[in-house]
Amino acid sequence: MRYEGAIYRPPSEAKSLILQITIGCSHNRCTFCVAFMDKKYRERELGEIEADINEAARSLGGVRRVFLADGNALAMQTEKLLAVLKKLYSAFANMERIGIYASPQDLLEKSEDELEKIKKAGLGIVYLGVETGNEELLNWIRKGATRDEIIEAGLRARKAGLVLSITVINGLGGAAKMEAHARDTATLLNKIDPEYLGLLTLMVCDGTPIARQVEKGEFAVPGQLEILKEIEMMLQHLELSNCVFRANHASNYLPLRGTLPGDKEKLLNILEKVRLSGDLRQLRPEYLRGL
Ligand code: SF4
Repeated sequence: MRYEGAIYRPPSEAKSLILQITIGCSHNRCTFCVAFMDKKYRERELGEIEADINEAARSLGGVRRVFLADGNALAMQTEKLLAVLKKLYSAFANMERIGIYASPQDLLEKSEDELEKIKKAGLGIVYLGVETGNEELLNWIRKGATRDEIIEAGLRARKAGLVLSITVINGLGGAAKMEAHARDTATLLNKIDPEYLGLLTLMVCDGTPIARQVEKGEFAVPGQLEILKEIEMMLQHLELSNCVFRANHASNYLPLRGTLPGDKEKLLNILEKVRLSGDLRQLRPEYLRGL
């Protein structure tokens, strides 16, 4: 397998074969994101991707899960993506699930018919970075999609039968917009009602526009206990029908997991207890946090 640059994947794809079908991110403008700053977006040639799949089929036995990278691989032209999916299923007889990263724009740029074809060809799960449901913050982080567009993108994925895993970032609103970020993100999620929800906590990385805003004093990163309060507020507003909830990424201060709505009260109690104790030793120390 050939890989170009640093590879990112969701925590739940730790055991998957990573296949890099695109390089970088076609948007690459979000102010907090350091992941693909050094890469110029392009689709890899189909022949090259097929050669990687053949090599993996020869050298790795029993591949059951594949994750398609990089940052928003769903941006790939539909016909080419369909060919990649077909090749993967023919190369790996035991294939159970194929996942992919997508931006809201990628879902909106594909027609409903295209998304249905992609689903039929065997794409199982789409990881969609939403970050926030607050319009002002979406604009500020240069997400490239409005709140309404994100809702439409999520609903399109669901309508096509794709399993949807949404990621949001706590801390993006700073202390000043914490409440608006929590409330608007929850109400956006309620409209989409995804099967999976993953929380990350903001990490300010060198070289990003947000890091420069911090340096200039234009943005104050919330403290650990404020982040816990924000997650509590978000959870209080969430009304999801059946969602696997995870906040166990390395960026999070307090690892949490459960199913919503069943575990909502339990999660809220844990958060409140730790927050009111003020005991930072119960939280992941800064030096152990990562992307
Ligand atoms: S769309 Fe995703 S990968 Fe691309 S810049 Fe934004 S956060 Fe980073």
